Amino acid sequence: MSLMVPLYREKINKKKSSPNRRIAQRNTDWKKNIKLSIRTKVVIRDYFIRNISNPFQEIRRNIGLADKDIFKHILIQTNYKCTRKCPFCHYGMETPPENVDMNEDLFYTIIDQLRDINYKGRIGLFEMNEPLTDKRFNKFLKYTREKLTKAWIFISTNGDLLSVEKAEQLFKDGLNFIYSSSYDEIALKRNLKLLKEINPNYRKLINHLNRTYQSGWSSRAGNVRQFKKNTIFAPCDMIYKVLYIKPTGKVCSCYNDFYDINEMGDLNKDSILDVWFGDKFKKLREELNKGNRNCSELCSQCDYVGYGNLPKIALKWRFKNLFK
Ligand code: SF4
Ligand code: SF4
Repeated sequence: MSLMVPLYREKINKKKSSPNRRIAQRNTDWKKNIKLSIRTKVVIRDYFIRNISNPFQEIRRNIGLADKDIFKHILIQTNYKCTRKCPFCHYGMETPPENVDMNEDLFYTIIDQLRDINYKGRIGLFEMNEPLTDKRFNKFLKYTREKLTKAWIFISTNGDLLSVEKAEQLFKDGLNFIYSSSYDEIALKRNLKLLKEINPNYRKLINHLNRTYQSGWSSRAGNVRQFKKNTIFAPCDMIYKVLYIKPTGKVCSCYNDFYDINEMGDLNKDSILDVWFGDKFKKLREELNKGNRNCSELCSQCDYVGYGNLPKIALKWRFKNLFK
């Protein structure tokens, strides 16, 4: 008995230090040591969405499963103001047609409706505007965070109204992420300075984009005339993923709709779910699924590519549907 115990221990020790085990141990240590920054995670997530999730969603859409899906991304634009007039944007072309601020009660109703459906997706508190021009922004943000504890709240800003203190306060109030874009050299210097000075824990939560040398821009469904390209007659994934609410409370099919051409509903009268699953969205989805962008004046000018890079299997689905 006394001999057997050490022998048994030896056996266990041998087993413990077997080459396979050592390799497995090394692999676990390696994984533990990797700490991805939030910025890297965002890049990986975007890559995943474009190359894996989008094609998969296209297949789901083709077999009718996607019709029951709720949006994963909601954009709530609370005003029509910006500090700039970029030539590739609505503000560079004209003053937006309806220059109104979103009614506060309407904003809270929208957030309450999202809370009722336990929304956990992305919320952009902006779209075609500079969100920090809205003096109520922090109040709106705090309310959103309080009601939607699991949602991922983000903004896109040109940084003109951002300071280190303001940015830190936004994160304290519940913002998850900032996409900051520099459109000229002065803004670039200023935005990079902010990144240097801000608390490193918050720096990880800002993705800065240097757009000073960018030359190609989206035509926003042909609205930005100088960047207009040929219409792409393909299905569109936007209407399955994104819900865009304008300051007026109107919901449009996508954020390319400067003039409310594809108005899908009005949240002053209808609920979010009624609009999202309503007849107008349904009809538009049916038509766009066939690649028929001529179904609306807006879509007929649109060069948005849709589901992006598709693997062969999804291309097959698309090809099959051309003849339906
Ligand atoms: S900063 Fe953004 S919203 Fe403002 S004009 Fe430029 S692109 Fe448009
Ligand atoms: S096809 Fe229509 S709904 Fe889709 S992005 Fe273009 S304009 Fe918007």
